[in-house]
Amino acid sequence: MSEKIFLCSICNINSGTCNEDCKFCSQSVRYKADIERYKQKPIEDIQKEALAAQENGALGFCLVTADKGLTDKTLDFVCEVAEAVQKTAPKLRLIACNGTATLTQLKTLKSAGIKAYNHNLETSEAFYPEICTTHPWSERYETCQNVNEAGMVLISGGIFGLGESQEDRVSMLESLASLSPTSVPINFYHHNPALQLSPNPLKADEALELIRLTRAMLPDAQRIMVAGGREMMFKERQGEIFEAGANSIVIGNYLTTAGRAMHKDLEMLASLGLEVATQV
Ligand code: SF4
Repeated sequence: MSEKIFLCSICNINSGTCNEDCKFCSQSVRYKADIERYKQKPIEDIQKEALAAQENGALGFCLVTADKGLTDKTLDFVCEVAEAVQKTAPKLRLIACNGTATLTQLKTLKSAGIKAYNHNLETSEAFYPEICTTHPWSERYETCQNVNEAGMVLISGGIFGLGESQEDRVSMLESLASLSPTSVPINFYHHNPALQLSPNPLKADEALELIRLTRAMLPDAQRIMVAGGREMMFKERQGEIFEAGANSIVIGNYLTTAGRAMHKDLEMLASLGLEVATQV
């Protein structure tokens, strides 16, 4: 495989304050998961994380907020952070992930230097009411359409292992394909005991098969990214995700769970003979 691997780092600039009831999400205030919660991460801390990501070869840096969607206040904060990060780590390509967003809000983010927007469909339209009752799947889909209309790069994927059927997985991938995302993040549900869902039933072989299926059903996507749950799902078999079709990973910590040290991922890629992408 000659493809280079795109590294992305995510930064939870606001954590654990969401009122929605997504059953897989420890950031909902409803489930009282034992996680760090804060309204706004100090900008200096975000700049330090951005610099570390840049120094470890990340090209993408994603500013994530925990809420259903953008409010005026959140929009101002994300734009302020974006400007500060561009000064500290100018090589990073900025991504925002702030829930549902209107076309006007997305254009404001774009003017602040944010190139891409991440909003996942999470699962199929049919299964979605089983995992969230406070907002509809259609709002998710519409936000993704807004991202395309705003002329931003769309990053949209989902999460496997919530109790969905194979039919649901195929349906989600078909919906994603209809949006033509540039990057498709695949997450594997990482169980937290405070959540009501059962632990992820998928085995590594099945998860690898889902990466292959994603690659096959989204042949035009530039990147299939394995994001949350990678270490938990694949353990010592993480190298196999690239043979299965992934060409992007999240390095460093996830939103509420620890990833492994960035240098370990760089060592893994080097041992597999894979190069890190240095441009988008
Ligand atoms: S809307 Fe987002 S942050 Fe809020 S509970 Fe759902 S997944 Fe979590």
